[in-house]
Amino acid sequence: MKRPRFSVQKHFASHLHYDLRLEAKGVLKSFALPKGPSLDPHEKRLAIEVDDHEISYLLFEGKIKEGYGAGSVTLWDKGTYTIDKESDPEKTLLKGLKEGKVHFTLQGKKLKGTFALVKLGKKEKEWLLIKKADSFASQKDILEI
Ligand code: MN
Repeated sequence: MKRPRFSVQKHFASHLHYDLRLEAKGVLKSFALPKGPSLDPHEKRLAIEVDDHEISYLLFEGKIKEGYGAGSVTLWDKGTYTIDKESDPEKTLLKGLKEGKVHFTLQGKKLKGTFALVKLGKKEKEWLLIKKADSFASQKDILEI
């Protein structure tokens, strides 16, 4: 099966943040990362669930003129993801997101290895993005690369 795609966009809005997009069954599951992603398993990065985006937005770069998110967007990383040996990673991702916890493995240029998204208690839209301690874990500041 073809691997689903992911991207991370660097979004220069009123507050600089990063947006994680994961392709799943015709949409992009989307999370805003106020502090960006990290390869350090000790860093738990807040990930705010935002509305699904259209697939066509995956590799978007450019200016958002007005409204929420106004500012410019550059593509920070892109690649594919897998989930263990699951034959349908998109389905498994959606199931995990519904249940509040999912592990996925990224094959990007900057982000590689396995990450967990874990929903925070009762807070509706708040998750943590946590790097698993695998061979791609690093304390290097990935945002500076
Ligand atoms: Mn954004």
